[in-house]
Amino acid sequence: MQIKRLRLTGFKSFVDPADLRIEPGLTGIVGPNGCGKSNLLEALRWVMGETSAKSMRGAGMEDVIFAGTATRPQRDFAEVAVVADLDDQQDELEIIRRIERGAGSAYRINGRDVRAKDVALAFADAATGAHSPALVSQGRIGAIIAAKPGERRAMLEEAAGIAGLHVRRRDAEQKLRATETNLTRLDELIGEQE
Ligand code: ATP
Repeated sequence: MQIKRLRLTGFKSFVDPADLRIEPGLTGIVGPNGCGKSNLLEALRWVMGETSAKSMRGAGMEDVIFAGTATRPQRDFAEVAVVADLDDQQDELEIIRRIERGAGSAYRINGRDVRAKDVALAFADAATGAHSPALVSQGRIGAIIAAKPGERRAMLEEAAGIAGLHVRRRDAEQKLRATETNLTRLDELIGEQE
């Protein structure tokens, strides 16, 4: 996957629209303490579908919305867009996540409303995502070293691009169980008719 652009508005300290072009090769983000470097990595994880407010260093998900300063009022929404080539076969995708106070999050892929699950699957198939071990936040290296075998396996599966298959398998199993229940009920009804 190649991330080409990250656009933020109202996200954490990025109250004004910011548009970052990410060129091929190594990209470094430098700046004084508290200028928002970690917020950028969090924006990337967030647009990929992060559901844990705690891992975004907040108490609730709305804490990602610009909270206001002495000179600027708070915002009512935050929006992050990422433009990425997920794999070689597809055209580039624009994925947008938006959160509004009191209304929760909404996602769009190339202008089409989608579910959080669709976004998670798109990134999982490209061997990345909000929990990808490729996104290493402060303090995460220790956590990866100390991970239990099961957690390490999940990281390897994510890196191998098969995490999405587990989600699809769970969905398929659920549908299978529902169909089996329907068939049992059908048998009962047929039995009653005979
Ligand atoms: P360091 O180098 O110390 O790790 P950093 O450059 O990574 O710092 P961040 O941790 O990304 O900085 O940004 C912290 C800043 O973001 C703080 O000034 C904090 O007040 C601000 N911030 C976080 N959430 C919000 C929010 N919801 N609204 C406004 N500002 C926010």
